[in-house]
Amino acid sequence: MKIKEALTYNDVLLEPQYSDIKSRSDVVIGSALDGPYAYVSLRLPIIASPMDTISEEEMGVAMWQEGGLAVVHRYNTIERQLEIMDHIITLCQCNAAAAIGTSGDYLERASALCEIGVRILCVDVAHGHHILMKEALSELRATFGDQVHIMAGNIATLEGYNDLVDWGADSVRCNIGGGSICSTRIQTGHGVPGLHTIIDCARSDRDAPIIADGGIRNSGDIVKALAAGADFVMLGSLLSGTDETPGDVINTHEGKVKAYRGMASKDAQVEWRGRTASLEGVATTVPCKGPVEDVLEDLERGIRSGFSYSGARSLSELQAKARFLRQTASGQTESTTHILR
Ligand code: IMP
Repeated sequence: MKIKEALTYNDVLLEPQYSDIKSRSDVVIGSALDGPYAYVSLRLPIIASPMDTISEEEMGVAMWQEGGLAVVHRYNTIERQLEIMDHIITLCQCNAAAAIGTSGDYLERASALCEIGVRILCVDVAHGHHILMKEALSELRATFGDQVHIMAGNIATLEGYNDLVDWGADSVRCNIGGGSICSTRIQTGHGVPGLHTIIDCARSDRDAPIIADGGIRNSGDIVKALAAGADFVMLGSLLSGTDETPGDVINTHEGKVKAYRGMASKDAQVEWRGRTASLEGVATTVPCKGPVEDVLEDLERGIRSGFSYSGARSLSELQAKARFLRQTASGQTESTTHILR
């Protein structure tokens, strides 16, 4: 048996290149999610995860106002999700995507969402390269035609990406098992290191936007994901603990914290389905971080600087110019701040 080797973000670095970019504001880092009736151009290549500790009303509004997008989670009643989406779209005049599943009430949910003006749906399941995804995408396309942009996932391979696009997805969430709160690889032995999935999917002759989802820990990882072929990154942990996330602030001896949990964690499953099925996530708390605007500003600065180090003014230039190096374990140590070691 031939075993493939797969690299992830920490294993590589981008080689700095000659740059004639005098101001980082000359760099365009955003991208578009398109479709005939659902063209959405984003200033930031950042999408907030469909998780109940990340994306509801406040995150939806803030992400849109800062130039990104949130995907409002589906772990609620249809009425509650409609209330959240209505708040974002009709009161606040912002845009957001709404998550649905591939079974149960998904079609009823999708119809109700489209009726109130939602134009970006996210078919959100753990293992997206699956017959239920195929059937759901076919049903959604038959029902809504081109009126909605359909994001779908997650997948971990080029075959998965190609199939989802061929089944009707307009953009694809790529990566399985890399999320900070994810235990899928431990529980099931399955998954693919995140950067490898992006490089693999970017070889496709289809051109649906690639969303690098999970395992992104800093702006350097974002730049690496984009350079490897992603159009957007999807973030959970980096946005967790911000003022706009749902949930109460908890006072502890170590300071103020908020909950952040995987949607397949015991806590989350017991709350939304009343029992546990396969446990593939964990629940934790994270320090409060203040407004999401501050987090996004820091990330944006890092991304702009990253484009400049590769001498790239746009995403297509970054992807054409990027030169990845594999680093050794000593290189990885050198790459972190190490004065205090
Ligand atoms: P993070 O940015 O590394 O925290 O990863 C967030 C991503 O993890 C989400 O966008 C989902 O794709 C994924 N995710 C969310 N909940 C779970 C879970 O319980 N198990 C596995 N993956 C999860």
